Amino acid sequence: MTTRTFGAALAALALPALLAAQQRPIGPPPHGQAVAATLVAGARVPLVQRGQTVLVHAGRLIDGLADQPLTDQGIVVEGERIAFVGPWADARRRAPGATVIDLTRATVLPGLIENHTHLLLQGDPTAASYEEQLLRQSTPYRAILGARNAQWALLEGFTTLRDMETEGAMYADVDIKRAINAGEIAGPRLWVATRSFAPTGMYPITTPNWELDLPHGVQVVDGPDEIRRAVREQVRFGADLIKFYADRRYYLDSAGVLRSWVNFTDEELRAMVDEAHRLGRPVAAHAVGRDGLESAIRAGVNTIEHGYGITDSLAQVMVQRGIYWCPTIYVNIYVADGRAQDGNPIYRQMIDIERRTFATALRAGVKIVFGTDVGGFPWTEPIAREFTYMVRYGMTPLQAIKSATSLGAELLGQQANIGSVAAGRFADLIAVSGDPLADISELERVRFVMKGGVVYRDQER
Ligand SMILES: [Zn+2]
Repeated sequence: MTTRTFGAALAALALPALLAAQQRPIGPPPHGQAVAATLVAGARVPLVQRGQTVLVHAGRLIDGLADQPLTDQGIVVEGERIAFVGPWADARRRAPGATVIDLTRATVLPGLIENHTHLLLQGDPTAASYEEQLLRQSTPYRAILGARNAQWALLEGFTTLRDMETEGAMYADVDIKRAINAGEIAGPRLWVATRSFAPTGMYPITTPNWELDLPHGVQVVDGPDEIRRAVREQVRFGADLIKFYADRRYYLDSAGVLRSWVNFTDEELRAMVDEAHRLGRPVAAHAVGRDGLESAIRAGVNTIEHGYGITDSLAQVMVQRGIYWCPTIYVNIYVADGRAQDGNPIYRQMIDIERRTFATALRAGVKIVFGTDVGGFPWTEPIAREFTYMVRYGMTPLQAIKSATSLGAELLGQQANIGSVAAGRFADLIAVSGDPLADISELERVRFVMKGGVVYRDQER
């Protein structure tokens, strides 16, 4: 454990006047390396500013697409995009006057894509920790923490996030995205789900005191017409995708199958998916047990979130229909004890169930995409720890890397822009010192981060 400092985060902000006054460490140090010490060697703005031609010299390159790493590669960056990738000598000839970033002792990869985050949550292993945030923190306060989380994610090498609902913080995810895109704060590219959907009485916070209307972690919707209107509303306020909770009350049946209670009627879900698709928005289903999974898949969703109870036959259907799966392994390990103490011991059993499900889905050829549910566990935990579980559960390190690069980009429909190191893509690059194909946990120690041609972290030189 080492320190991350406010100064470091701000060094990535490109706000030099403000930075001059703020260089002190704050808060409990999250994981990661000593960012401030080496980020830009004392400079208070990004090392490389947008617009320059830069030549990155990669000792080893995992480009997100190829099945083998390449060695001694040159990456020409013009403005915010990659203009050329190839052998170093060729790249050097193409950009003779360019500023060179020497990463010859490092492994360079595409910026990582995290397809299931909650910027507006700070961990909710128990009902109490969830209610503390929804009842005692204002949306502005939560948005400030969310902006900080976005910076942390970027500095950890995650240059793109799909943020999977604000848990009661309304459209604050859209505001964080706006601030990043406007250059006001440093952060990843965001795709945001805004408020998510569940029907009346099927999502926290609930209370037996019917005189109180407590805040809800979702937008509560009932009936096809109301659902169509709500989808339009979320899209109007900035939702890049639509998310809903397909099920709750998970249990094991006598055959040992993970089951659940279904939240929406088929009629309601058909309306939701139809309206979202009509407006060009994909639909993500939180679905854990077989019943919820079946209901989501019947409705025509694009992605399954968590999906711990995916069976052999459901995996086959997902392959046929090209439905992606975000397994979110680590969060379940993190919250299992807290939820068991809250009276839900099933969360402990779901750890083993998911390990088996992962093997089943991998064998079947389901598109398994990196997504952790960070925010469900605190942002002070390394997001990249999920990779270790994916490899432990049967993926090769390269499969795990592709799940967070080229395949993650495919889920977002952004293959032409992100997820690989290739000409025409955004210059979103990271580097680690060691070989992540030999030790996947190297990705927990990202030392260099470039997003859109701007360097936000550099400990390699
Ligand atoms: Zn989630």
